[in-house]
Amino acid sequence: MAANPLYHDIILEHYEYPRNKGEVQEPDAKSRGANAMCGDDLVVSLRLDSQAAALENIAWNGHACAIGEASASMMTDAVKGGPNENARRWLKTVRGLLTNKPDDIDPSIELGDIEALEGIKHYPVRIKCALLAWEALDEALRLAETKRGVAGG
Ligand code: ZN
Repeated sequence: MAANPLYHDIILEHYEYPRNKGEVQEPDAKSRGANAMCGDDLVVSLRLDSQAAALENIAWNGHACAIGEASASMMTDAVKGGPNENARRWLKTVRGLLTNKPDDIDPSIELGDIEALEGIKHYPVRIKCALLAWEALDEALRLAETKRGVAGG
């Protein structure tokens, strides 16, 4: 768990009161992420807006450990309603944060609660838990863009 006790509380708060849990109606794409090592099994569903340029709605469902569920809650909070490119900036930043690649952290991003995930980089077996929902976002976004005919999707 994160070394800083404040960060521990932020993670538990998201675990107890998860944001955007459920399923998006008529999603453009869904992606499942599973982590057999601790039984995490999540599905991220998302729907793009009429221009296919922003995440009109995103939700996650399933079961995971505290870190896996908190991270899914934080992920949906961070990218919901924002442009696809914003979601990609977040993805790169969170991967940078958790795999100790500070150059990948976008300095223009206001981390907020997600700063609480940084301490997990010191616990290698937990990194996959924290990244699970983000990897599912990456795949769901790619599938949704392909479905909607966005170039480069
Ligand atoms: Zn886990």
